Amino acid sequence: MKETIKQLATTFTTEIIGNRRHLHTNPELSFQEFNTQKFVAQKLKDMGITPVEIANTGLVAVIEGRNPSSKVVALRADMDALPIVEANDVPYKSQNPGVMHACGHDVHTASLLGTAKILSALKNEFDGTVKLVFQPAEEKAPGGASIMIEQGVLQNPTPHKMLGQHVAPNIPVGKIGFREGMYMASADEIYLTVKGKGGHGAMPEICIDPVLIASHIIVAMQQIISRNRNPRYPSVLTFGKVIANGATNVIPNEVYIEGTFRAMDEEWRADGLKRIRQIAELTAEAMGGTCEVFIQKGYPFLKNEPELTRRMKGAAVDYMGAENVIDLDIWLAAEDFAFYTHHVDACFYRLGTRNEAKGIVSGVHTPTFDIDETALVIGAGLMSWLTLQELSM
Ligand SMILES: [Zn+2]
Ligand SMILES: [Zn+2]
Repeated sequence: MKETIKQLATTFTTEIIGNRRHLHTNPELSFQEFNTQKFVAQKLKDMGITPVEIANTGLVAVIEGRNPSSKVVALRADMDALPIVEANDVPYKSQNPGVMHACGHDVHTASLLGTAKILSALKNEFDGTVKLVFQPAEEKAPGGASIMIEQGVLQNPTPHKMLGQHVAPNIPVGKIGFREGMYMASADEIYLTVKGKGGHGAMPEICIDPVLIASHIIVAMQQIISRNRNPRYPSVLTFGKVIANGATNVIPNEVYIEGTFRAMDEEWRADGLKRIRQIAELTAEAMGGTCEVFIQKGYPFLKNEPELTRRMKGAAVDYMGAENVIDLDIWLAAEDFAFYTHHVDACFYRLGTRNEAKGIVSGVHTPTFDIDETALVIGAGLMSWLTLQELSM
């Protein structure tokens, strides 16, 4: 079966790369993936698969094998692009100015279409059902995944396991990375408005200086993690924007602060957010001012179910060779696949796309991001193999 899958992946190479190039040329922003949805739907119909629209610009579909209710494995691809002007000079350069597939979601979508094609060709040879999940808006709150779940993507049929992959520009093409347990972080946005009383810089005694209050808040905040969090678990609090629009001799009325809080478990996440609010409000109050706190909750942390991940890693070793399967470090970026991982046993792994010899080294979310397209065939074949392994369990 492994050789059959490899053969099919090779046979479909031109089509898989062609699909990726089409998607790369025609990127669409989060929640606006209308043409992408049409394109994917047509490709699925061409394979004899009937897609159903969900979450406005998403699609869900099933490939039924023999005995379809025996087990269900869901496979997810995200489809949205980013507001970035592409700087690559390639034949498949973005033709939608200011929008670019700079996070590889074109790769994920084309790869899953490839997997669908392989598994359709094999549907008389496996038991169970493969559920294809093409979701919008990974890049934008509240995350397409959360809306897909609300609208029932994990029902009728309910998947027993779920897999997702993401390009990895730091991993050489030909290699795959796995990590059991916590892998990516939750990410919440913190917005603070510190209010005092502005006035002449030479008369602080009749002002309430919000710049000083904001400074105390930022310093105090940096003790939340170091004094409260178990040091074995990573967590980050960063403030990247501070606006105090006074002057050398003007104390402003207010100071505006923005930051991000990241965590690797939901209990600490809730506790950390509570402490952020308390320190901001009470520090301001103690110094005679006030602080308005607004928290925009983002994605939860992403957990890879250990047993499933171990099995998938073993299956990947079988497919690619042990030398090509690596262990991933924890990564404090956020990813909306995390929503699924809190509902169903899931495994999110990384597909190496780097090729230094070809100069393909740029990170995701940069204008020069690209991939070694060999990764597409590996991605499509490997996901097919992992799916069949899990269905046969
Ligand atoms: Zn991204
Ligand atoms: Zn991404």
